[in-house]
Amino acid sequence: EKKRQARWAELPTVTQDGHRVELGANIGHPDECRAVQQVGGEGIGLFRSEFLFMNRASMPDEEEQFQAYRQVAQDMNGKPVVIRTLDIGGDKELPYLNLQSELNPFLGYRAIRLCLDREELFLTQLRAILRASHYGSVKLMYPMIATLEEWRAANRLLAEAKETLARAGIPFDPAIEVGLMIEVPAAALASELFARDADFLSIGTNDLIQYTLACDRINEQVSGLYQPFHPAILRLIRQVIDAAHRYGRRVSMCGEMASDPLAIPLLLGMGLDGFSMSASSVLAARELINHLSFEEMKELAEAALKLEGQEQVKALLLERTRVQI
Ligand code: PEP
Ligand code: MG
Repeated sequence: EKKRQARWAELPTVTQDGHRVELGANIGHPDECRAVQQVGGEGIGLFRSEFLFMNRASMPDEEEQFQAYRQVAQDMNGKPVVIRTLDIGGDKELPYLNLQSELNPFLGYRAIRLCLDREELFLTQLRAILRASHYGSVKLMYPMIATLEEWRAANRLLAEAKETLARAGIPFDPAIEVGLMIEVPAAALASELFARDADFLSIGTNDLIQYTLACDRINEQVSGLYQPFHPAILRLIRQVIDAAHRYGRRVSMCGEMASDPLAIPLLLGMGLDGFSMSASSVLAARELINHLSFEEMKELAEAALKLEGQEQVKALLLERTRVQI
């Protein structure tokens, strides 16, 4: 099985009828780049920067962050690397930030909300990422955006970070692409507003599903309600993809759903441009996509979007993808 899959490391990700998509990897640590290169990952679709901040007594400074981001940029050898700004809070805590404990941490002071409130922390990270952009193809992505004001405020701070570096004569990519995660239902429903001026969108289904179904993603007792194939989720995903394409933006997915062999044909058919997943899933996903027909998956997606529940959708996908492979 390993050997059979290994040949897919060298090949592009393209359907039988010539539709190409980007197959990237999610990483949580710079050391994982090696594994990504081994499976022929076409880039890093999500670099969770949290690792730098966790399990330690104090904040990493700009230099330390820069070194880590630059390592990833260099190790990926010119392939695109999407670095996500700090997504802390929720289930991830940092003792040195002295965060209050909250009744609803997933709905509370986390990610971009915290970063916009603690400007120095955010500016430091933005400068470190900008500096790394000089050493590869780095893109920047904000997590948990719910409103256009947050998006604009984050970009104002980015402009400030650029100005600081420029004044000091420190090199960075002035045209660095900036996108956001679509993982809050409000952002998904209003994705057109973001697609208008973001360079790219990335759908974070792990959170999007939890928020849309009001179902804690780590609570086993309600895991039956955590339904990636719920019609509401499929419609939201479709809406985000259509909004992005209306403005000529690329849209990818970096939640777990992107590596689900049952979901891949459907997402492909809905027009998703990029898939990002753990390195260990890349080969199987590429093999699957290379066996599919884009035109047929478009029809499959249309049919799936008409169904009334997750079970019906899964049944259709099981039946149709068995025929395909
Ligand atoms: C997501 O929410 O889908 C996502 C990719 O981010 P995380 O799992 O880090 O919350
Ligand atoms: Mg998330």
